[in-house]
Amino acid sequence: MVSSEPAVLIAGAGPTGLAAALFLARRGVPVRIIDQAAQPSPNSRALAVNSRTLEVLDDTGVSERIVTEGWAVQGASLHEHDRVVLAFDLPAVLGAQHAMTVLPQARTEALLAEALRAEGVGVERGVALIGLSQGDGGVQSTLLHADGLQEQVSSPLLFGADGARSTVRQALGLAFTGSSLPEPWHLWDLDMQTSLDPQRAHILFEPDGFVFVLRLHGKQWRVIGNGVDPLGALRRIGNVGTVTWQSQFHIGHRVAAQAGVGRVALGGDAAHIHSPLGARGMNLGIEDAYVYADCAAEALAGQPERLQDYHVLRHAIHKDVVRRIGIITRLMHGRPPWLRWFRDEVVPVAGHLAFARQLMLRTVGGIDHPLKTRP
Ligand SMILES: Cc1cc2nc3c(=O)[nH]c(=O)nc-3n(C[C@H](O)[C@H](O)[C@H](O)COP(=O)(O)OP(=O)(O)OC[C@H]3O[C@@H](n4cnc5c(N)ncnc54)[C@H](O)[C@@H]3O)c2cc1C
Repeated sequence: MVSSEPAVLIAGAGPTGLAAALFLARRGVPVRIIDQAAQPSPNSRALAVNSRTLEVLDDTGVSERIVTEGWAVQGASLHEHDRVVLAFDLPAVLGAQHAMTVLPQARTEALLAEALRAEGVGVERGVALIGLSQGDGGVQSTLLHADGLQEQVSSPLLFGADGARSTVRQALGLAFTGSSLPEPWHLWDLDMQTSLDPQRAHILFEPDGFVFVLRLHGKQWRVIGNGVDPLGALRRIGNVGTVTWQSQFHIGHRVAAQAGVGRVALGGDAAHIHSPLGARGMNLGIEDAYVYADCAAEALAGQPERLQDYHVLRHAIHKDVVRRIGIITRLMHGRPPWLRWFRDEVVPVAGHLAFARQLMLRTVGGIDHPLKTRP
């Protein structure tokens, strides 16, 4: 089967692909968005929608929905020996238009998909991109449908938003260099009764690592830890009840060698991965989508050099953000012992310095670089 229609084919309907499709459709660009999964995932990795994301989604009406459904994080507290050693408030210090808002990723994706449907575009599910080639005339992609049918699609542009194991990135032959932490990190969504302030994020410094705690809604909390018994640490400060989701994952800090090649661009986890500390992955992917839509729409309207703008602008930001989150992760991680000493003794003191606070808050808010669509 051979088809030729969309101006932009988008591979992957996670937050990055959905946002790219939405931004492009709102500019009148014909898009087609596919996802190999038969259904969206009901589990939510990301919880925190940052100030930058709410800024770029403002015009779409999605920000308003996120802010209405979610709750605004007031700040973060670092605990050592069960007392707060450092605390900072988010909205006050950032001065950004929107506060960081907690909403499970599955809901953010559902709201993006709903806004996209309102533009007349639906996600085609059970369709995987399995190969591509490009030339002067455009990109030829091979799609595999769930029933085994193969389809050849021609499109002027292709956006690879197909996650950390990106087929698009591999087809372009781009390296995904960086490093990985050896140990798995553990995740629980669970009910808990605790004296922890429910309006704040919390990080407990433990001898063998850290425990991150954030309320989801009601009495339900998200817990992430890298030590031997993060739930043991948690039991000191609360009564742990039913676990509704348990998972574990490995942490890598990696950036694709380029943010795209020719008519093919990469966004989101396909282009960059890092630890969830800092809550940047989904947010940075949505920002990629915003910049891509601007560059792609103008490239299609007769300015082909705008594709190169995307590659240059985003690659520099990807490298910078991944480096910064890597530093924060190593600091909080608590290993080896000399870094744990630095974390326990120096961070609580240095964290009171205005410069350090601003840097940390801008990183978490996603406003550590200007939002640029042109070099
Ligand atoms: C524990 C945890 C907590 C996190 N917390 C946060 C947070 O608070 N804030 C934040 O910003 N980020 C957070 N993140 C990161 C965030 O979840 C990811 O960065 C985000 O999901 C990336 O979105 P994406 O659309 O780029 O990729 P994905 O969400 O991975 O979506 C890729 C999509 O592409 C599809 N696909 C894959 N291959 C193909 C193919 N060949 N053809 C068609 N479709 C394909 C997949 O089915 C999938 O739907 C967290 C991550 C973890 C692990």
